[in-house]
Amino acid sequence: MTRDSRSDELFAHAQRVTPGGVNSPVRAFRAVGGAPKFMVRGQGPYLYDADGVEYVDLVCSWGPTILGHAHPAVVTAVAAAAANGLSFGTPSPGEVDLAQLIVDRVGPVDQVRLVNSGTEATMSAVRLARGVTQRSKVVKFAGCYHGHVDSLLASAGSGVLTFALPDSPGVTGASAADTIVLPYNDVEAVAAVFAEHGEDIACVITEAAAANMGVVAPQPGFNAALRELTERHGALLILDEVMTGFRVSEAGWFGLEGVAPDIFTFGKVMSGGLPAAAFGGRADVMAQLAPAGPVYQAGTLSGNPVAVAAGLAQLAQCTGEVYTRVDKAAAAVSALVVDALQQAGVAHRLNTAGNLFSVFFLDHDVIDFETAKATSVAQYAAFFHSMLDSGVYLPPSAFEAWFVGASHDDAAIDRIAAALPAAAAAAAAARP
Ligand SMILES: *Cc1c(COP(=O)(O)O)cnc(C)c1O
Repeated sequence: MTRDSRSDELFAHAQRVTPGGVNSPVRAFRAVGGAPKFMVRGQGPYLYDADGVEYVDLVCSWGPTILGHAHPAVVTAVAAAAANGLSFGTPSPGEVDLAQLIVDRVGPVDQVRLVNSGTEATMSAVRLARGVTQRSKVVKFAGCYHGHVDSLLASAGSGVLTFALPDSPGVTGASAADTIVLPYNDVEAVAAVFAEHGEDIACVITEAAAANMGVVAPQPGFNAALRELTERHGALLILDEVMTGFRVSEAGWFGLEGVAPDIFTFGKVMSGGLPAAAFGGRADVMAQLAPAGPVYQAGTLSGNPVAVAAGLAQLAQCTGEVYTRVDKAAAAVSALVVDALQQAGVAHRLNTAGNLFSVFFLDHDVIDFETAKATSVAQYAAFFHSMLDSGVYLPPSAFEAWFVGASHDDAAIDRIAAALPAAAAAAAAARP
């Protein structure tokens, strides 16, 4: 009998005082089996658990830590801001600087409102779109995740997909009824729905590049077609860049593709690992928000000075050189994974969207939710646990993107390379 690890003890305690033992479902390891590791420290590309085990981190807090953990510039800025007080409930200068920085980086954004999470950003963006258009219906795509907003949970990605919870109890029929769910990358389906309901559609919301059903890039012309259709029918386009924003380029997915929505949502990288997020867009649309306009939106801790300081410090470091390093690390890890799975004869597809990537254990292309769902969860679980045992921390779900940062250097990538053959063999041995 093995003695319980400190993580196991913590998890046992956590399950008594927190539902499922975690504060966000995917962290619980239920999709891959076993008990989660409790992390106590992060440094550069490494995480350290409560038993002192070191891991190369390929989750990066689900995106935010693009510079690596505990980057000195970010930590110093946070400490300096905290020393001046944690929250004022008044405007403070850093909020203006962060808004200006986002406006400068993302061309179509004229104005920004800061919030506390990506969920709040998308929820507020949808309310704003409904307020501006005076229409009720929202079009979203199956497998896209926009946070746990009632009306956006239908056929969502991320944990909703991981745990096969297509219709969450607690979401009323009324809030779901105004949501139209369509297949991702299917322009004809969008055109058909606009032909039928065009007058009632307030907005189309889409991930700028889908990365919560695994990574599924928009096919060439898909986002542009959404832009054209929404414009023609007087609806707004919301590009959710909570994951891609400031991660795949200095201007996020917009910087790679150039399709300008009416409203963007941001989170994750923009706040350096502290809770802050944003939505922003055209001045005439944003002017409808209170107190400038009638659409209400507020937050006690919105624009929090410490979170804003973290975001400013992180984005200041996110230069072209950093994105080159992140892109290179992503390409290196992707190539190693493909090579190991090929050597082991494991059917797979590695999808990319900029420097985001993920692996599907199946034998056909993945372009939407239906094709993504076919991935072998059992093979992923075997692969995941082998990597974990070798000191590489992957997302504990087959349907999440993998993240690298600028601190993933040759030493970290060599550790991943060393771990891969055994993990590929474990996937080969698992029943699909
Ligand atoms: C993570 C994510 C969200 C939700 O952000 P939270 O900060 O977890 O509320 C929304 N949209 C996308 C695309 C995301 O990846």
